[in-house]
Amino acid sequence: MIILSSGSLFQRVIARATFNRYREVFDKAGYAIMLIDNANNRFIKINRAACELFGYTEEELQKMTPLNLSTGTDETASISGGKSEEPLIRPARRKDGKIIIIKVQTSYLEKFHVSMISDVTEEYSIRRALELNEERLKEAQRIGRFGWWEYRPETNRYIGSEEISRIFNDEASSLSFTYQDNISYTHPEDRSYLISAIEDALEKKKESYSLTYRIITPQGKVKAITVNSNIRYDENGRLLYRYGTCQDITETQKIMDDLIAARSHAEESDRLKTTFLANFSHEIRTPLNAMLGFLNILTSMDTTESEKEEMVKLIEVNSQRLLRLINDMIDMSRIESNSMEIKYTNVEINSFINSMVSSFSHELEASGKKNLRLTPVVDRTKVSVYQYIDELRLSQIFSNLVSNAIKFTDEGEIKYGYRISRTENRYTITYFVTDTGQGIRPERLDDIFLPFVQYWNEDVPKVQGAGLGLAICKRLTELMKGRIWVESLPGKGSSFLFSFSTPVMVE
Ligand code: ADP
Repeated sequence: MIILSSGSLFQRVIARATFNRYREVFDKAGYAIMLIDNANNRFIKINRAACELFGYTEEELQKMTPLNLSTGTDETASISGGKSEEPLIRPARRKDGKIIIIKVQTSYLEKFHVSMISDVTEEYSIRRALELNEERLKEAQRIGRFGWWEYRPETNRYIGSEEISRIFNDEASSLSFTYQDNISYTHPEDRSYLISAIEDALEKKKESYSLTYRIITPQGKVKAITVNSNIRYDENGRLLYRYGTCQDITETQKIMDDLIAARSHAEESDRLKTTFLANFSHEIRTPLNAMLGFLNILTSMDTTESEKEEMVKLIEVNSQRLLRLINDMIDMSRIESNSMEIKYTNVEINSFINSMVSSFSHELEASGKKNLRLTPVVDRTKVSVYQYIDELRLSQIFSNLVSNAIKFTDEGEIKYGYRISRTENRYTITYFVTDTGQGIRPERLDDIFLPFVQYWNEDVPKVQGAGLGLAICKRLTELMKGRIWVESLPGKGSSFLFSFSTPVMVE
């Protein structure tokens, strides 16, 4: 503080000596000191360091106010800074226009205030660069979904970065949990894998390990993570600490799984197509050859009338078979290329079932199986039953299933129709085609709905048909928001059942 006092000569001499000493300290101080008048906010005294800091002469500064040294015109940006005695860090402008960062510590006295100012530009830019680095690191961790962690046996706790907390807790905060908590976060199926991997690493004094396993967050989300860990031991081989990174690889894993599935799907369909093409030519050639042979016989001179009749019948059967094969092919490729259109209307099911009797009876008759009956089944307690469905596609499913039933049943009965059930004001129709034929072995039940099944299942006895019928039925039911399944007992018969989730109305 500077004291100017009047009094005796002695006092004046002492005062002047004291003042000079202060003046010397003031001028030689290694940091800038500026005295500012409280009344007009002008600089009263400025030391040499202050002049050097701002690049002005003392005379120049004495005509200025602290506001002239700030980078803006705003009073709050003034370098002496409000009434606060807390140190302030702020930018200031030198005479040569250069912006510097200063730290200002101000003390208030009655008539003036004193600001002690130091240049912290370098310190500030280092700190800023460090902060920026830290922000970037955090951002990189967030984008890459990985974080760091450390485990110390003496605390039995894991600590980790914000991102680790986001991975385990779905929220950003710093993480701290015990070894037991870590195990309980782990997916139950992966816990023993995790525990034994850590124990194994410690037992064998491994320096590092890497694990991929699943965790379940408190919100119930299952995530796949990869943990890379380093281990440090003391000279006696006792664990000091483990530390490392943890990355959420759920998305990557999903993409990998999808890619693998897509590849195996492509390989599978490629294999099926190749097998199919190799065999399909045989399927086309057989009826065509038969037809040409019968035509030859027909045109020869010595064929009797009854033989001719027989030949014409056989030509018809074979052309039907060929037509069906080609139709199946066309349908399958339309379904596969998503160009099969479904036309929904309200179909009255009782008359629909009855309308198919004659064509199925005709087919049964043509098969020559005299001991096989065909019975349509409808719910006689209901006058009308409607389902919102594509009638043509529904009849195609029935037709495929009844054809199969005729093909694989020698005697007994084929029933086809529907059953209706009601749950909570909602009707469900289950359609069925049941036969008393050879049935299907349990191990084949999953396969039979796959396309071209009889070609890639070599143990299946070859019966005419391209192996597309059930695959088409499955695709058609799925296209109409339904499902199809089979129940079968070898030697006793099979039941094919299918239902749709589209609306049903009953009168
Ligand atoms: P296919 O053109 O060979 O009949 P499907 O896709 O219609 O092709 O049927 C696939 C296979 O499922 C058949 O080859 C047969 O082995 C079995 N299958 C289908 N329906 C029946 C049934 N009603 N009884 C016994 N086996 C059947």
